[in-house]
Amino acid sequence: MKAVAVLPGKPRSVHLREIAAPELVDQPHPHVVTIPEGRAVLIQTLQVGVDATDREINEALYGNAPPGGDHLVIGHESFGRVLEVGDAVTEVAPGDYVTCTVRRPGGSVYDKIGRNDITSEETYYERGINLCHGFLAETFLDDAEYVVKVPRSLKHLGVLSEPASVCAKAIEQAYLAQQRLQVWRPRLAYVMGAGQIGLLATMMLRLRGLEVHTLATRPGPHLKSEIVEAYGASYVSSKETPLADLARRTGRPDIIFEATGSAEVCFRSMEVLGLNGALIWTSITGGRQDVTVDGAKINLEWVLGNKLLVSSVNGNRHHFELGLQALSHGELTYPGVTRRILTHPVAGLDRYEEMMRLLEEKDALKVFVDVAG
Ligand code: BGC
Ligand code: ZN
Repeated sequence: MKAVAVLPGKPRSVHLREIAAPELVDQPHPHVVTIPEGRAVLIQTLQVGVDATDREINEALYGNAPPGGDHLVIGHESFGRVLEVGDAVTEVAPGDYVTCTVRRPGGSVYDKIGRNDITSEETYYERGINLCHGFLAETFLDDAEYVVKVPRSLKHLGVLSEPASVCAKAIEQAYLAQQRLQVWRPRLAYVMGAGQIGLLATMMLRLRGLEVHTLATRPGPHLKSEIVEAYGASYVSSKETPLADLARRTGRPDIIFEATGSAEVCFRSMEVLGLNGALIWTSITGGRQDVTVDGAKINLEWVLGNKLLVSSVNGNRHHFELGLQALSHGELTYPGVTRRILTHPVAGLDRYEEMMRLLEEKDALKVFVDVAG
């Protein structure tokens, strides 16, 4: 069958290759975990989303092949339909729509209790990213443990399951951590960045009843600002309204959800967070970027203001389920809005070059491959 792969370590090596189609008895990542007897699920890939992670893997900035091979099948945002299940699988059946989590457990205590998303081992195993093949292939196989059912009536948004899991986890982590305060009723949130993560976070914070201001550089109106407003939030161009001015106007926010990919914005956000507030960092900032801040002032305000920084990455099946619940709730509350994020479909694995090219486009909110055509 066809798959899209890279040669890790070799920049711009993305290519189409022929690989063996998996069968129910196979072990997709025997160097990490083995699927228990009868627990395999074989899935036909319908759509796979791609993002900056895939671009950076193709730039050879990170990513490793599974041991013993020289290539890595990429793609970590999966959506598919179950073809076959082992005889010990009760959670999904052939024909069901599903997504699959990204990380597989290492050996730390967190991995052992189902929290591989917060492994304390340096080496992490992620399908399509590090040491495990991904989903950009015609079919894939995994343990039912990592397969998450997508409601049939949500199948038009199924490819957003993984990004939604990342947002849902980050927000849940902040609320869990804020239990330190005993009473915390946040009412005002800023979302930094209006890419797919920023937009989904905007929706999720609105669903929790917060007043949300979503900031990005370019003045609206455009698709991003329209989606933000359709979620009942306000879109703010940071070119027109600098962060400090906004904070003067709205008061300081209780939550800042940072998703720009810019280290500058990560640290500037520290300057405006409100008392007892939570700043959530989700950006994976590559390379090196020096930022100058008044460290004494930030430290003073953070200590006197009991402020919290929560960093979050990845998600386990619980977070995928939370993400899917939020997508469902969002669809009922703001019908038809979230699908507008799905801006750039690519027809088939053969078009992998176009897929990579679209990742460079400024107005591409979500590039995804329609694998099954
Ligand atoms: C993925 C996460 C992953 C992270 C780091 C992100 O693009 O969505 O699942 O943990 O990259 O590899
Ligand atoms: Zn991703």
